[in-house]
Amino acid sequence: MKKWAFLLVILLLLFGFEVMKQEPEVTKDHLSIEDYLAQDVIDQGDNQAIDAIDQDDNQSIDVGMDQIYQGDLLLVNKEYPVHQEGVTPDVINLFQNQELVQGYGLLDNTIQLSQRVVKQFNTMIDEAARDGVRHFLISSGYRDEQDQNRLYEEMGSDYALPAGYSEHNLGLSLDIGSTEMAMNKAEEGKWLQKNASTYGFILRYPKDKSAITGIQYEPWHYRYVGLPHSVIMQEKNLTLEQYLDFLKEQKTITTTIDHEEYEISYYPIMKNTTILMPTVRRYEVSGNNIDGVIVTIHP
Ligand SMILES: [Zn+2]
Repeated sequence: MKKWAFLLVILLLLFGFEVMKQEPEVTKDHLSIEDYLAQDVIDQGDNQAIDAIDQDDNQSIDVGMDQIYQGDLLLVNKEYPVHQEGVTPDVINLFQNQELVQGYGLLDNTIQLSQRVVKQFNTMIDEAARDGVRHFLISSGYRDEQDQNRLYEEMGSDYALPAGYSEHNLGLSLDIGSTEMAMNKAEEGKWLQKNASTYGFILRYPKDKSAITGIQYEPWHYRYVGLPHSVIMQEKNLTLEQYLDFLKEQKTITTTIDHEEYEISYYPIMKNTTILMPTVRRYEVSGNNIDGVIVTIHP
Protein backbone atom coordinates (compact mmCIF):
# COMPACT_ATOMS: atom_id res chain seq x y z
CA MET A 1 0.00 0.00 0.00
CA LYS A 2 2.76 2.33 0.94
CA LYS A 3 4.47 1.61 -2.35
CA TRP A 4 1.28 2.37 -4.33
CA ALA A 5 0.75 5.48 -2.30
CA PHE A 6 4.31 6.49 -2.99
CA LEU A 7 3.81 5.88 -6.73
CA LEU A 8 0.56 7.87 -6.66
CA VAL A 9 2.37 10.77 -5.07
CA ILE A 10 5.09 10.47 -7.70
CA LEU A 11 2.42 10.39 -10.45
CA LEU A 12 0.59 13.34 -8.97
CA LEU A 13 3.82 15.22 -8.67
CA LEU A 14 4.71 14.35 -12.23
CA PHE A 15 1.20 15.22 -13.42
CA GLY A 16 1.31 18.37 -11.40
CA PHE A 17 4.72 19.18 -12.74
CA GLU A 18 3.41 18.60 -16.26
CA VAL A 19 0.49 20.90 -15.63
CA MET A 20 2.81 23.46 -14.16
CA LYS A 21 5.13 23.00 -17.08
CA GLN A 22 2.27 23.47 -19.50
CA GLU A 23 0.70 26.30 -17.64
CA PRO A 24 3.36 28.82 -18.50
CA GLU A 25 3.09 27.79 -22.15
CA VAL A 26 -0.68 28.29 -22.16
CA THR A 27 -0.24 31.50 -20.26
CA LYS A 28 2.47 32.56 -22.59
CA ASP A 29 0.31 31.90 -25.67
CA HIS A 30 -2.56 33.69 -24.04
CA LEU A 31 -0.34 36.55 -23.03
CA SER A 32 1.12 36.88 -26.45
CA ILE A 33 -2.38 37.40 -27.86
CA GLU A 34 -2.96 39.96 -25.15
CA ASP A 35 0.39 41.48 -25.93
CA TYR A 36 -0.68 41.71 -29.52
CA LEU A 37 -4.00 43.27 -28.55
CA ALA A 38 -2.28 45.52 -26.07
CA GLN A 39 0.15 46.56 -28.76
CA ASP A 40 -2.79 47.44 -30.97
CA VAL A 41 -4.40 49.41 -28.18
CA ILE A 42 -1.14 51.21 -27.53
CA ASP A 43 -0.89 52.04 -31.23
CA GLN A 44 -4.42 53.40 -31.22
CA GLY A 45 -3.65 55.24 -28.04
CA ASP A 46 -0.59 56.77 -29.65
CA ASN A 47 -2.66 57.96 -32.57
CA GLN A 48 -5.21 59.45 -30.23
CA ALA A 49 -2.45 61.19 -28.31
CA ILE A 50 -1.03 62.56 -31.53
CA ASP A 51 -4.50 63.69 -32.62
CA ALA A 52 -4.97 65.37 -29.26
CA ILE A 53 -1.65 67.15 -29.58
CA ASP A 54 -2.54 68.20 -33.13
CA GLN A 55 -5.84 69.64 -31.94
CA ASP A 56 -4.22 71.30 -28.97
CA ASP A 57 -1.54 72.88 -31.11
CA ASN A 58 -3.87 75.80 -31.79
CA GLN A 59 -4.57 76.10 -28.10
CA SER A 60 -1.19 75.62 -26.55
CA ILE A 61 0.23 78.79 -25.04
CA ASP A 62 3.97 79.38 -24.88
CA VAL A 63 4.67 81.34 -21.72
CA GLY A 64 8.09 82.91 -21.25
CA MET A 65 9.45 84.23 -17.97
CA ASP A 66 8.81 87.82 -19.14
CA GLN A 67 5.05 87.09 -19.22
CA ILE A 68 5.09 87.13 -15.39
CA TYR A 69 5.64 90.90 -15.61
CA GLN A 70 3.02 91.79 -18.23
CA GLY A 71 -0.76 92.04 -18.25
CA ASP A 72 -3.81 93.55 -16.60
CA LEU A 73 -3.50 91.62 -13.31
CA LEU A 74 -0.01 92.76 -12.31
CA LEU A 75 0.32 93.41 -8.61
CA VAL A 76 2.30 96.59 -8.03
CA ASN A 77 3.02 97.75 -4.49
CA LYS A 78 5.93 98.42 -2.15
CA GLU A 79 7.08 94.83 -2.58
CA TYR A 80 6.61 94.35 -6.33
CA PRO A 81 7.77 97.13 -8.65
CA VAL A 82 6.78 97.60 -12.28
CA HIS A 83 9.15 95.87 -14.71
CA GLN A 84 9.88 97.69 -17.95
CA GLU A 85 7.84 95.14 -19.97
CA GLY A 86 4.87 95.78 -17.64
CA VAL A 87 4.20 99.30 -18.89
CA THR A 88 1.15 99.16 -21.15
CA PRO A 89 2.32 99.78 -24.72
CA ASP A 90 -0.79 101.74 -25.80
CA VAL A 91 -0.42 104.78 -23.54
CA ILE A 92 -1.74 107.98 -25.16
CA ASN A 93 -2.02 111.62 -24.12
CA LEU A 94 -5.73 112.33 -23.62
CA PHE A 95 -5.48 116.07 -24.20
CA GLN A 96 -4.01 115.39 -27.63
CA ASN A 97 -6.78 112.86 -28.36
CA GLN A 98 -9.81 114.99 -27.49
CA GLU A 99 -12.10 112.85 -29.68
CA LEU A 100 -11.67 110.14 -27.03
CA VAL A 101 -12.54 112.44 -24.14
CA GLN A 102 -16.31 112.79 -23.92
CA GLY A 103 -18.50 113.44 -20.93
CA TYR A 104 -15.73 114.24 -18.45
CA GLY A 105 -12.92 116.71 -17.86
CA LEU A 106 -9.15 116.50 -17.59
CA LEU A 107 -7.27 118.22 -14.77
CA ASP A 108 -4.51 119.31 -17.17
CA ASN A 109 -3.03 118.65 -20.59
CA THR A 110 -0.51 116.04 -19.41
CA ILE A 111 -2.94 113.21 -18.56
CA GLN A 112 -1.93 109.95 -20.22
CA LEU A 113 -3.56 106.51 -20.08
CA SER A 114 -3.77 103.19 -21.91
CA GLN A 115 -6.06 103.67 -24.91
CA ARG A 116 -7.78 100.37 -24.15
CA VAL A 117 -8.53 101.56 -20.61
CA VAL A 118 -9.83 104.92 -21.90
CA LYS A 119 -12.37 103.10 -24.07
CA GLN A 120 -13.65 101.10 -21.08
CA PHE A 121 -13.70 104.27 -19.00
CA ASN A 122 -15.78 106.07 -21.68
CA THR A 123 -18.33 103.24 -21.74
CA MET A 124 -18.58 103.48 -17.95
CA ILE A 125 -18.99 107.26 -17.95
CA ASP A 126 -21.77 107.01 -20.60
CA GLU A 127 -23.60 104.59 -18.33
CA ALA A 128 -23.18 106.88 -15.31
CA ALA A 129 -24.60 109.79 -17.33
CA ARG A 130 -27.71 107.67 -17.99
CA ASP A 131 -28.07 107.45 -14.21
CA GLY A 132 -27.72 111.24 -14.00
CA VAL A 133 -24.15 111.19 -12.63
CA ARG A 134 -22.05 113.36 -14.92
CA HIS A 135 -19.41 115.45 -13.17
CA PHE A 136 -16.33 113.32 -13.63
CA LEU A 137 -12.76 114.49 -13.95
CA ILE A 138 -9.54 112.55 -14.56
CA SER A 139 -6.84 114.08 -12.37
CA SER A 140 -4.02 111.60 -12.99
CA GLY A 141 -3.25 108.66 -15.25
CA TYR A 142 -0.02 107.12 -16.47
CA ARG A 143 3.12 108.54 -14.91
CA ASP A 144 6.56 107.77 -16.26
CA GLU A 145 9.55 107.38 -13.99
CA GLN A 146 10.40 111.09 -14.09
CA ASP A 147 6.84 112.16 -13.18
CA GLN A 148 6.75 109.66 -10.34
CA ASN A 149 10.13 110.79 -9.01
CA ARG A 150 9.04 114.42 -9.06
CA LEU A 151 5.82 113.56 -7.22
CA TYR A 152 7.70 111.48 -4.66
CA GLU A 153 10.07 114.36 -3.98
CA GLU A 154 7.26 116.92 -3.74
CA MET A 155 4.80 114.87 -1.69
CA GLY A 156 7.11 112.70 0.40
CA SER A 157 6.86 109.00 1.18
CA ASP A 158 3.61 109.36 3.16
CA TYR A 159 1.68 110.49 0.11
CA ALA A 160 3.49 109.11 -2.91
CA LEU A 161 5.40 106.01 -3.92
CA PRO A 162 8.91 105.97 -5.38
CA ALA A 163 9.27 105.54 -9.15
CA GLY A 164 8.42 102.02 -10.28
CA TYR A 165 6.37 101.15 -7.18
CA SER A 166 3.20 103.01 -8.13
CA GLU A 167 0.37 101.50 -10.18
CA HIS A 168 0.32 104.77 -12.11
CA ASN A 169 3.58 103.62 -13.71
CA LEU A 170 1.67 100.78 -15.48
CA GLY A 171 -0.77 102.91 -17.47
CA LEU A 172 -3.72 100.94 -16.08
CA SER A 173 -4.59 103.18 -13.12
CA LEU A 174 -6.23 106.55 -12.92
CA ASP A 175 -7.39 109.03 -10.31
CA ILE A 176 -11.00 110.05 -10.87
CA GLY A 177 -12.44 113.15 -9.29
CA SER A 178 -15.73 114.98 -9.17
CA THR A 179 -15.96 118.62 -10.26
CA GLU A 180 -18.58 119.08 -7.50
CA MET A 181 -16.95 117.93 -4.28
CA ALA A 182 -14.53 115.46 -2.68
CA MET A 183 -14.89 111.92 -4.02
CA ASN A 184 -15.78 110.36 -0.66
CA LYS A 185 -18.91 112.58 -0.61
CA ALA A 186 -19.65 113.05 -4.33
CA GLU A 187 -22.32 111.15 -6.27
CA GLU A 188 -19.53 110.29 -8.75
CA GLY A 189 -17.60 108.47 -6.02
CA LYS A 190 -20.66 106.57 -4.80
CA TRP A 191 -21.66 105.57 -8.32
CA LEU A 192 -18.16 104.26 -9.11
CA GLN A 193 -17.89 102.26 -5.87
CA LYS A 194 -21.11 100.49 -6.82
CA ASN A 195 -20.70 100.11 -10.59
CA ALA A 196 -17.04 100.33 -11.69
CA SER A 197 -16.48 96.57 -11.41
CA THR A 198 -19.04 95.98 -14.19
CA TYR A 199 -16.62 97.76 -16.55
CA GLY A 200 -13.41 96.05 -15.41
CA PHE A 201 -12.32 98.63 -12.81
CA ILE A 202 -11.68 98.20 -9.09
CA LEU A 203 -11.37 100.66 -6.25
CA ARG A 204 -7.79 99.72 -5.50
CA TYR A 205 -7.39 101.11 -1.96
CA PRO A 206 -10.67 100.64 -0.06
CA LYS A 207 -11.26 102.05 3.40
CA ASP A 208 -11.18 98.77 5.34
CA LYS A 209 -8.22 97.23 3.49
CA SER A 210 -5.29 99.56 4.16
CA ALA A 211 -3.63 96.90 6.35
CA ILE A 212 -3.47 94.68 3.25
CA THR A 213 -2.76 97.24 0.52
CA GLY A 214 -0.38 99.32 2.63
CA ILE A 215 -2.11 102.45 1.28
CA GLN A 216 -4.66 104.64 3.03
CA TYR A 217 -8.21 104.88 1.67
CA GLU A 218 -8.18 106.54 -1.77
CA PRO A 219 -11.76 106.98 -3.02
CA TRP A 220 -10.39 108.37 -6.30
CA HIS A 221 -7.86 105.73 -7.34
CA TYR A 222 -9.21 103.12 -9.76
CA ARG A 223 -7.32 100.31 -11.43
CA TYR A 224 -8.26 98.45 -14.58
CA VAL A 225 -8.03 94.65 -14.18
CA GLY A 226 -10.66 93.64 -16.75
CA LEU A 227 -13.57 91.22 -16.66
CA PRO A 228 -14.39 88.88 -15.05
CA HIS A 229 -11.77 89.67 -12.39
CA SER A 230 -13.21 93.01 -11.26
CA VAL A 231 -16.65 91.45 -10.73
CA ILE A 232 -15.28 88.54 -8.68
CA MET A 233 -13.18 90.90 -6.55
CA GLN A 234 -16.20 93.11 -5.88
CA GLU A 235 -18.47 90.16 -5.03
CA LYS A 236 -15.93 88.54 -2.72
CA ASN A 237 -14.66 91.86 -1.32
CA LEU A 238 -11.05 91.08 -2.25
CA THR A 239 -8.18 93.47 -2.95
CA LEU A 240 -5.83 92.60 -5.81
CA GLU A 241 -3.40 91.15 -3.24
CA GLN A 242 -6.12 88.89 -1.84
CA TYR A 243 -7.52 87.94 -5.23
CA LEU A 244 -4.13 86.76 -6.54
CA ASP A 245 -3.61 84.71 -3.36
CA PHE A 246 -7.09 83.25 -3.79
CA LEU A 247 -6.36 82.19 -7.39
CA LYS A 248 -3.07 80.62 -6.34
CA GLU A 249 -4.85 78.63 -3.64
CA GLN A 250 -7.76 77.52 -5.84
CA LYS A 251 -5.62 76.94 -8.98
CA THR A 252 -8.75 77.02 -11.16
CA ILE A 253 -12.09 78.74 -10.66
CA THR A 254 -15.09 79.24 -12.91
CA THR A 255 -17.52 82.10 -12.77
CA THR A 256 -20.66 83.03 -14.65
CA ILE A 257 -21.46 86.62 -15.59
CA ASP A 258 -24.62 87.33 -17.60
CA HIS A 259 -25.02 83.59 -18.28
CA GLU A 260 -21.50 83.41 -19.76
CA GLU A 261 -18.90 81.17 -18.17
CA TYR A 262 -15.29 82.16 -17.60
CA GLU A 263 -12.54 79.84 -16.40
CA ILE A 264 -9.57 81.32 -14.57
CA SER A 265 -6.41 79.34 -13.77
CA TYR A 266 -3.16 80.18 -12.04
CA TYR A 267 0.10 78.62 -13.28
CA PRO A 268 3.42 79.03 -11.47
CA ILE A 269 6.17 79.85 -13.99
CA MET A 270 9.74 78.88 -13.20
CA LYS A 271 11.02 78.50 -16.77
CA ASN A 272 9.66 78.95 -20.29
CA THR A 273 6.54 76.79 -20.31
CA THR A 274 3.89 75.54 -22.72
CA ILE A 275 0.39 75.44 -21.31
CA LEU A 276 -2.06 73.12 -23.08
CA MET A 277 -5.59 74.46 -23.12
CA PRO A 278 -8.48 72.13 -22.32
CA THR A 279 -10.78 73.73 -24.87
CA VAL A 280 -10.62 75.83 -27.98
CA ARG A 281 -11.79 79.20 -26.71
CA ARG A 282 -10.60 82.78 -26.56
CA TYR A 283 -8.18 83.34 -23.74
CA GLU A 284 -6.05 86.03 -22.09
CA VAL A 285 -2.80 85.64 -20.20
CA SER A 286 -1.59 88.01 -17.50
CA GLY A 287 1.33 87.77 -15.16
CA ASN A 288 0.85 88.43 -11.44
CA ASN A 289 4.20 90.32 -11.26
CA ILE A 290 5.34 87.78 -8.64
CA ASP A 291 5.81 84.17 -9.74
CA GLY A 292 3.26 83.06 -12.30
CA VAL A 293 0.52 83.78 -14.79
CA ILE A 294 -3.26 83.77 -14.80
CA VAL A 295 -4.98 82.34 -17.87
CA THR A 296 -8.54 83.52 -18.35
CA ILE A 297 -10.68 81.53 -20.78
CA HIS A 298 -13.49 83.68 -22.10
CA PRO A 299 -17.02 82.52 -23.03
ZN1 LIG B 1 -3.79 107.19 -7.87
